[in-house]
Amino acid sequence: MPPPYDDWEPVIGLEIHAQLCTRTKLFCGCETSFGAAPNTHTCPVCLGLPGALPVLNEHALRLATMGALALGCTVNARSVFARKNYFYPDLPKGYQISQFELPLASDGHLTIAADLGRRTVGITRVHMEEDAGKSTHGVGELSLIDLNRAGTPLIEIVGEPDLRSPAEARDYMKQVHQTLMFAAVNDGNLEQGSFRCDANVSLRKRGTETFGVRAELKNINSFRFVEDALEVEIQRQLRLLQGGGKLTPQTRGYNAEKRETYLLRHKEDNEGYRYFPEPDLPPLVLDDGWVNALREALPPSASSRRETYETEYQLTAYAAGVMTSHPKVAQLFDDVVAGGAKPVKAANFIQAEVLRDTKTHGLDASLPITSNQLIELLALVAKGAISGKQAKRVYAAMVDSKRSAGDIVTELGLAVIADEDTLRSLIDQVVVDHPKQVASYRAGKTALLGFFVGQLMKATRGSADPKLSSKLLKQVLATQPPAPPHSAPPEGNQP
Ligand code: ADP
Ligand code: MG
Ligand code: ZN
Repeated sequence: MPPPYDDWEPVIGLEIHAQLCTRTKLFCGCETSFGAAPNTHTCPVCLGLPGALPVLNEHALRLATMGALALGCTVNARSVFARKNYFYPDLPKGYQISQFELPLASDGHLTIAADLGRRTVGITRVHMEEDAGKSTHGVGELSLIDLNRAGTPLIEIVGEPDLRSPAEARDYMKQVHQTLMFAAVNDGNLEQGSFRCDANVSLRKRGTETFGVRAELKNINSFRFVEDALEVEIQRQLRLLQGGGKLTPQTRGYNAEKRETYLLRHKEDNEGYRYFPEPDLPPLVLDDGWVNALREALPPSASSRRETYETEYQLTAYAAGVMTSHPKVAQLFDDVVAGGAKPVKAANFIQAEVLRDTKTHGLDASLPITSNQLIELLALVAKGAISGKQAKRVYAAMVDSKRSAGDIVTELGLAVIADEDTLRSLIDQVVVDHPKQVASYRAGKTALLGFFVGQLMKATRGSADPKLSSKLLKQVLATQPPAPPHSAPPEGNQP
């Protein structure tokens, strides 16, 4: 296959903004909840009123640190908040509190499995910052500002320019998303803007080292868009370069409907942010013990779980991927396995049944059954008390109820009939009811065994233990002469 972009190679690096799932903002006590009436979650601090002073939200710091650790970063013992100055109506203070020269954490990495195989992608730094407000333009002749989001805690994850294709960029973005969700740091809500990225891309001649001139595609909030936008932008740069043109550093937007990128502004070397240390906040000094305690508290990552699922539990890569599709699904699977279920059986059942009825919203998920219900159900199948098919009926009756698998089995009368006496009397009845078939069987047409098993299943609505049934049927049918007729009801006592 020829390389996709001729003799040009894309160089891509993402800057990801992830909202920390705290109840309150980064420097004040206002709520961060999404969807409130405009400008109701505001106070003098996040409105930038004169004299108001920021106080760091400790929970946000804890989550930021856990996110950085989950991304394999080294947490810096000392970091410094800085003012990033620019004018825009959704930024009431006229500056954003961020971190610049000394970020919270640096030198992380993440492994992705993309089109070029498994690769490690570097993470330059993770720093804390506050979000800006939200502006809505073109409401009649007006532009509207909502400052509910102003001051929401974010981490920015600056990735190394290690990505080499739009598909890799998508995989990397997904991997960061999953890592932060499994660390319970970010709620993963792309639609609500809690996870978004700026994608930087340039082209260089294959085999050369120096980077080309980059464009930065702003505010991309979906995995598909990051791939599409990069592809479209690469094609634009390619056309320019192949036509002998020269690129300038630009900040661009992506219009998904038109599938094109458009100029937002030209990027200057020094974007004129006049960064300086935030005088209203002391430097952030983190103690080793505090950082290590957070490292210990990190929940197992999606990738370490996949590893266990594949190598220890013998799940397919696909099934391991499904079991780690959401932290709550992974938790259910882990709990069920810890409760004694066979991992492959549990994964199959979760995939085939439970996920159909599972809805996720951010970090939450509404699971149709509890781990204890599922443990009991799978145990009943494992010991042969009910068949796999019956398990699906029991599950369906169990969904959104608090009832146990055992209760439902009894109620539906599903338990497998494995009692010899009961089966024998049922078989006697079948023999009486089908004298012709019995005669043919005894004349050598033993393939009729299946017919008799079928009759037995019909009489028990599928509950007869299939192995024991065949064994007993063979015995009875082999006996000469035929068993004496009797007319007791199927489960009746001796006459
Ligand atoms: P800025 O804040 O101005 O965008 P940064 O130094 O923070 O600048 O870099 C932002 C991102 O751009 C990083 O993720 C990095 O990997 C990426 N990047 C830097 N140079 C290039 C380049 N030549 N081509 C593609 N991506 C690049
Ligand atoms: Mg940038
Ligand atoms: Zn506030």
